[in-house]
Amino acid sequence: MDELVVNWHITEACNYNCRYCFAKWEGNERELIHNPLNIGILIREIPKLLEILNENFGTCFKYIRLNLVGGEPLLYPEAIREIIHCARQSGLLLSLITNGSLLNQDWVNIISESFVQIGFSVDSIHEQTNVAIGRGSNREVFKASMILQYINAIRTYAPNIGIKINTVVNEYNFQEDMNDFIHKANPQKWKIFKMLPIITNNLSVSNQQFETFLLNHQAFRSIISSENNDEMTQSYLMIDPEGRFFQNHHHGVKVYQYSHPIHKVGIQNAFNEITFHVDKFHHRYIPLNPMR
Ligand code: SF4
Repeated sequence: MDELVVNWHITEACNYNCRYCFAKWEGNERELIHNPLNIGILIREIPKLLEILNENFGTCFKYIRLNLVGGEPLLYPEAIREIIHCARQSGLLLSLITNGSLLNQDWVNIISESFVQIGFSVDSIHEQTNVAIGRGSNREVFKASMILQYINAIRTYAPNIGIKINTVVNEYNFQEDMNDFIHKANPQKWKIFKMLPIITNNLSVSNQQFETFLLNHQAFRSIISSENNDEMTQSYLMIDPEGRFFQNHHHGVKVYQYSHPIHKVGIQNAFNEITFHVDKFHHRYIPLNPMR
């Protein structure tokens, strides 16, 4: 496996208000993206992870894709521009996960030029379900048709860009039929998560309900990658808005485990402070069984 993926949750802020949102972190510091100097320091540390992981775990990662997530990353265009600039200098590839609500032609240009992959979080194609989940701002509710338009626009400018859809299976959508939407979006990957009850139990589903959703979308099994709660635990390399590594459950406790800020202590010291399962990480990014 050549590609190491690092997820940086650049902000907690979002214009939506999903009831099961887990984009909430403890801490007192200002989010790092508001300080261009610290953005640079953090991003220059990240390439060192290749050597740290390859030496410690015998892996053969060759390059890093920095995946920008939130909250909603597109709330901060200036920070994204600075990240793009620093990532280029540090040889990092970039990808992004967005709820799609803030996209416009400027973003289509930026994404087409500087990102190798864009992911859209789409939990439902029905307005009422999106309202019930909280997927909407004061001005409008999420519209799946708008996402399809932007996917087409981005593909026009960047035909080789990776398109990904993320869906969180929850109490309101586990019986939903998203086959037509996925057919039209034609993503390379559809990542389906079981709602992770780490911040709240709101709208959580049973394993059986989760399997129901997967079964109803079997036609897309070649692009589906699904994750139950165990597979999501301690198996992502994740950085929070303050620039700290963090991990999910620790010894069965429903809290995040944090390192010190990477831009303050260096990435090696910060990495040593978290628990990381390289086997689960490998499992996620090697498509041995497409239904996983
Ligand atoms: S769109 Fe994502 S970040 Fe925003 S509230 Fe919903 S789950 Fe949270």
